[in-house]
Amino acid sequence: MILQQALAQSHEYAKKVVREGDTVIDATCGNGHDTLFLAGLVGDSGKVYAFDIQKEALGITRKRLLENGMLHRCFLIPDGHQNMHRYVNQPVKLVLFNLGYRPGGDHSICTRGETTIKAVETALNLLVVHGLIVLVIYHGGDTGFEERDYLLKALPDLNPKKAAVMMTSFINLPNNPPILVCIEKLG
Ligand code: SAM
Repeated sequence: MILQQALAQSHEYAKKVVREGDTVIDATCGNGHDTLFLAGLVGDSGKVYAFDIQKEALGITRKRLLENGMLHRCFLIPDGHQNMHRYVNQPVKLVLFNLGYRPGGDHSICTRGETTIKAVETALNLLVVHGLIVLVIYHGGDTGFEERDYLLKALPDLNPKKAAVMMTSFINLPNNPPILVCIEKLG
């Protein structure tokens, strides 16, 4: 297929904005695939702050980064992304949210609309102008539709002077393919 799923698109947007030396945030590090990807983009002089509420997720991510020689570029933080402002005190270029539960983990430990929207608002304050927040929203199946519904109700209320919000989704494919939301900070 030429058209890409939400996760692949999220990486394409990340590649568009992130440059060597940048600071970025992985808001949901999970099994560490995205953290490793982002660590590759920021290069040796950049930084990735990666959050997860599961110690196990941070352990898996740590091992993955170590095996790939990229741990020194990353700060792994055992706290919710809604608290990111307590740990990051410099402008960031990109914040990636890969929502839902950790594949292979406990499906009941998953992201929630209320905390995700708080984190998005906090992330907007940390972003540089024209920096991006990218959300991959899973829905259906174990995760249900709650977080999707919450976010799709709340995100259109973001101030259009401060942020442009774009949503992309497949509208006819089966099995509830994830939705991509990109938010660009305008001012
Ligand atoms: N990016 C991951 C990867 O590359 O493997 C996948 C992330 S997984 C879909 C979602 C993760 O979000 C889970 O590991 C879960 O523990 C975590 N999570 C849930 N609530 C969170 C919160 N408030 N702050 C940070 N992480 C959270």
